[in-house]
Amino acid sequence: MKKLLPALITSLLLSNYAFADENPVTATQLSEHVYVLFGQGGNIAASVGDDGIYIIDDQFAKLSDDKKTISDLKPGSAEFVINTHHHGDHTGGNENFAKAGAHVIAHDNVHKRLKEKHGEGSDYLPRISFGHDLKLHFNNEHAHVVHYSNTHTDGDSVIFFSNDNIVHMGDIYFNFGSLPFVDVDSGGSVDGVLAAVDDVIKQIDEKTTVIPGHGPISDRSGLMTYRKLVQKAKDVMLNAMQNDASLEQVLKADPLSELGLEYANWLPKERVTTLFYRSLK
Ligand SMILES: [Zn+2]
Repeated sequence: MKKLLPALITSLLLSNYAFADENPVTATQLSEHVYVLFGQGGNIAASVGDDGIYIIDDQFAKLSDDKKTISDLKPGSAEFVINTHHHGDHTGGNENFAKAGAHVIAHDNVHKRLKEKHGEGSDYLPRISFGHDLKLHFNNEHAHVVHYSNTHTDGDSVIFFSNDNIVHMGDIYFNFGSLPFVDVDSGGSVDGVLAAVDDVIKQIDEKTTVIPGHGPISDRSGLMTYRKLVQKAKDVMLNAMQNDASLEQVLKADPLSELGLEYANWLPKERVTTLFYRSLK
């Protein structure tokens, strides 16, 4: 049984390879039971073992357009889905997973925001929600799901696999050498991101595997580098915001250019500047 399960998850992935040309999906095994799946949405972690399968986040953004494909990915295979937060590139598969029998777990604020979007009774909503933290005892692991207030949104959780020394940080950590998306309109804040990263850094060691919400696998030193970058961005923004500078003035001064970073098309520098401004104001 144990030996078959990794093969099972590989075959679940193989069902996607028809899309491989446009949307390659790859799996990396991080420990005996834990895998990470890279697609075009948020990074998905999967725990695979004698107790079954559960996953953390559930959408490959591009593949979600095709419901059949995303349900092919896990035909009743996952018993639980943990959502790190409510954004569609992390929860877009909830309905299909739920219809196939999975129980979705997320923070109360994720439930609230998905209810606003999809309505009461929708299968996109978590069936199990929690306030501060929750433990999932499955596959010889005690996954600790911990809520961090007002970070990327107001509903973000970090999942600690203590036996395997792996942590999934969701979108609190964007690992592209770039700045995070601080979703101020969903309760996100720059200071919350910094506080959460500080807390995670304290709890892990140099051997911990860190799964970011987007981007390649990282570790504690990568997380510390990211922390410095976010702090630097905060510092140059606060400097530019002195004397009650307006958003227009700050945008004109373009303080983030000092960092010499690259920006994604969907999150250009002006938008990051605006979100940081609104968060730090
Ligand atoms: Zn997000």
